[in-house]
Order: sequence, then C-alpha cells, then structure tokens
Amino acid sequence: MPVAIIGSGFSGLAAAIALKRRGITDFTIFEQEQSLGGTWWNNRYPGAEVDLESHIYSFSFEPYDWTRNYASQQELLDYLNHVAAKWDIVRHIRFNEKVDTVAWSDESKTYTVTTASGAKHGPFRSVISAVGFLNLPLLPPFARGETPFLGDQTHTSRWPEGLTMHGKRVGILGTGSSAVQVISEAARDARSVKIFQIEPNWLLPKLARDFTPSERRWNRFGPVSWWKRFKLYAGYDVRQYGASHARKGGRSNQKRADQALAYLHASLGDRPDLLKLATPAFPFEARRTVISDTYYDDLKNPKVELIPHAVKSLTPKGAVDANGTEHELDLIVYATGFDAANYLGGYKVKGEGGVDLHEKWNGEPEALLGLMVPGFPNFFMMYGPNTNSVPLVSFYEAQADFAASLISKLLKRGAKTVSVNPDWFRKFNAWLQDRLSRTVWGSTSNYFQARSGKVVSQWPFSASAYIFGTKLARRFMVTFK
Ligand code: NAP
Repeated sequence: MPVAIIGSGFSGLAAAIALKRRGITDFTIFEQEQSLGGTWWNNRYPGAEVDLESHIYSFSFEPYDWTRNYASQQELLDYLNHVAAKWDIVRHIRFNEKVDTVAWSDESKTYTVTTASGAKHGPFRSVISAVGFLNLPLLPPFARGETPFLGDQTHTSRWPEGLTMHGKRVGILGTGSSAVQVISEAARDARSVKIFQIEPNWLLPKLARDFTPSERRWNRFGPVSWWKRFKLYAGYDVRQYGASHARKGGRSNQKRADQALAYLHASLGDRPDLLKLATPAFPFEARRTVISDTYYDDLKNPKVELIPHAVKSLTPKGAVDANGTEHELDLIVYATGFDAANYLGGYKVKGEGGVDLHEKWNGEPEALLGLMVPGFPNFFMMYGPNTNSVPLVSFYEAQADFAASLISKLLKRGAKTVSVNPDWFRKFNAWLQDRLSRTVWGSTSNYFQARSGKVVSQWPFSASAYIFGTKLARRFMVTFK
C-alpha cells in the first residue's frame, strides 16, 4: 500500500531515499511550493547560507564537490536537486499541493490526504510528515495583514524575487541567525541600515571561506571527504556528550562561552558603546548561538546603526521603536524567526477515533524520539518534537531509516498497523523532560519552548545517542497489528 510524504526538503528527500533503498517505490510526495528544497527553497534572502559545515550538512551517502566550507543557499538547492535527480525522486513529487488534512480511517486502517484544493488523495498505508520545524514565519502582530507602511517589507523566508536592498534605507528586525546574514549584505548594498534589537545574542565566528582548487581536488577523493565528515561528526558528538554543551558550566558550554566572550571583546573592545549593547544577558546557548564572521564588523560600519529597542508599530514612512522614535525606511526586513513550537502547524492530523493531533498535544508537542505518537498508527514525523540538534542531516537519516524500516516490516509481516507503545512514550518523555530541566534552554525566552515554557524542540544529547535510541525503539517500543 502506498506511502505519502509531506514535504520535499532535506528530510522529505531522506525519507524518499530510505523507502527506495528498502525497495518501496509506491510513494507520493506532496510539496506546497513549486520547487523542491524546503528551507533552502524558501529562505532566498540575500546572504542566506548554512551555518553547519558543508561536509556534515549533506547526506552521508551523497558526497558533493562543495565550493565553500559553509554552503550558500543556492549551492544547497543545487545539491538537493542533484540528489533528487540521481535517486529519481522528482517524478514522485506533486508540486503546488498544500496538505490541509491527514485523516486515519479506523475501518480501512489507512490515511486520506486532503489538499488545499479540496482534492482527496489515497488511501495511504503510511504517512511521513517531513515539513521541518522552522517553516511557519513569525511576524510581529503589527506586521500581519494590511499595514500603513508604504515601502517594501518582507519576512526573511518569503523574500520576493527581484527585491533588492541597493541604495535603500533598510530596517532589519532581529539579531538572530537570519538577521546577521541579511545585515552583512545590507551593510554592503544599502544606503543605510538600522538594526532593531530586543536582546543581543551570543555569537561565535564562522570562519567561512571558499575551498581552494587543491582542497576541492582532495575533497573529490572519497576517503578525504569521508574523513572530513567523520571528524566533524565526532566533534559534535564529543561536544554534546552528556549534554555538556547545554548545561550551564558544562565543559563544552563553558569552553564555547569563553570563546564567544573573547571574540566579542576582541571585535568590539575598541567601541565600548557597541560592546555594551552587544553583550548578552542570558546564559550561553540558552538561545541558538549565532555564527558569523561579519556581524561585529558590520556594527562598526558608519552606515549601520544598532537600535536597542524592538519595533512596536509601523507608520506610512517607517517603523516606531519601543522608545517611541520613528525611523524612516524604504524597506523593512522581518528577521523575526518562526513559530517553531507549533509542530505540523500547517495542517491537521486526525488519528484513531478521529482524535486531532494538535488537540491531543494541547500546545505541548511530544513524541517518541520525535517520530511517533500513540493513537496515530503508521504516522511518522521527520524532525519532530525534541529532535532539534546538530548535525541535523544525521538525525534525518536516522529518522528516515526508522520510518522506512517499520513500513517495510508492515509489508513483510502483512500487518496493518504499527503503533508506538504508550508506556514507552510516557516513560521516554518523562525522562527527556527531566534531562531538559538540567539544561539552559528553559532559562530564557526562546523558540525552543511551548507557550507554557516546556522545552518541546530540543534534543539534549549527541547524534549517536539519538541514532542508538531509534534502533532500540524500532525493536522494542512499537507494536504491529
Ligand atoms: P530567531 O532566531 O527566532 O530570531 C528572531 C529575532 O527577531 C530575535 O532576535 C528577536 O528578538 C527578533 N524580534 C522579534 N520581534 C521583534 C520586533 N518587534 N522588533 C525587533 N526584533 C524583533 O529567527 P532566525 O534568525 O530566523 O533564526 C531561526 C533559526 O533558523 C535559527 O536559530 C537557526 O536554527 C535557523 N537558521 C539557520 C541558518 C543556517 O545557516 N543554518 C540561518 C538562518 C536561520 P529576541 O529574540 O530578543 O526576542
């Protein structure tokens, strides 16, 4: 029986390839955009670039001739298109098909997928949700719907084709990972740049650069590429061992906090005014640490002004900050992030007995290893609750393998359903929340938390621990019927 995959970004492609590797070719991918790529299709703002190293931010089984140590958005999109073509995935994708509802039938033990046009697709024996978690743009209330502002305005992840910053007075809201990348471009291209900051973030240098021709020749040699990937993977695993990166005073937390502080002082020590404004007040790593080589230099650029206030409202000419000052602008860029804790917020999922997944979660998403929820048989999530960590693609591969192996077992056993055991689900989440309570992630406001303050997005340990968990779970924590 066929499988539906929702989304054709990194994780959707990982799921499709995992199915193919197990000989399952009867699957359909629903993609709401006109192109594959997910995040790397949507985030086309100037300067968009990954902040994980190219050799680890790629599939382990698909090395690539990367031109930079941190790939740009365009190169990542090219890579994903290359992988999809190589694995013959594109013909499975239905573009411009936004999924509205995924509904289980207790009678037929299958799912029906309803898309925005009202068309019903299916039946599907299984569904793999691969919609990512940084996919619902978060705009401040005053920027939703009609606004009085007469200039251009855009969220970073919805950058319109052809919009440039050239010669404009640009206002950028936010100082997170997206903001620093746009700021770097704006500082070069715009007439003036105003950065509206609520709170400064911790920041580490990126050391981004092009690979030299000789490095690229070496990288094309399989063992070299493999070794680079392995070294990066092991480095992340060591950093996250025992959640040491996420505990205040944890060994790697402390080490990286010291590095960040030293970099801050080395960069802005000669500008006490900026140093004061850019020094974070929350514990290191309590929010996603920003990685940039350019941000602190950009702050010193005479064209750039750091306004230490949020934007509170718009006028026809510009933006009014929390101090009540109006700033005249030609373009407003909302680098204001995503409604991350609202997992699968773009569509409804109905499980056994018609139970709605979001009602069941009641604002606090949880799953077994982010993958499965009791009452939703044969439904798998890629990058689901509490799986946000690095290196991301290693998590995707483990999740894809988990889903594909259970779907393959369903077929081989002639079973109709595979469900997560509710006892394991409860025990796992109680254990996880206990571990998360020892980290810094609950100590300040961030997108890792549900509105209640519960940390719903983070995985506190290494990728290896997670991968081991998925192997245990698929053997001992699920039931076939
Ligand atoms: P974000 O980290 O959630 O940052 C949103 C920013 O908007 C914050 O600085 C926030 O301030 C600010 N903000 C919100 N409302 C505002 C207002 N009214 N006025 C002024 N500022 C306002 O979002 P993001 O930068 O898009 O990054 C989200 C995540 O995407 C990252 O953490 C990362 O995981 C991912 N990302 C990755 C890459 C990559 O290279 N791999 C690149 C970009 C993004 P406060 O936080 O102080 O409230």
